Amino acid sequence: MLDACQDHRPPCQGTDADLWTSEDHEDRQQAAEACGYCPHTAACHEYAATNRERAGVWGGRDRTAQPATTRRSA
Ligand code: SF4
Repeated sequence: MLDACQDHRPPCQGTDADLWTSEDHEDRQQAAEACGYCPHTAACHEYAATNRERAGVWGGRDRTAQPATTRRSA
């Protein structure tokens, strides 16, 4: 559990906030797990879906856009 959970702030507003927007997939995975301790998970997920967020972790889901796949040659 991250430090922020102990004083009822959303974990993404705690000392490890950079994990939510990290370029490292494992960091974002850790952030997504921490969202499980947040009371706003459902609302956060809904917000991200409605606003088509394409980067970072929202509501326990990594919404970072995947890099384009390599084109097949003809
Ligand atoms: S569910 Fe949303 S508000 Fe809660 S920790 Fe995750 S990203 Fe932050």
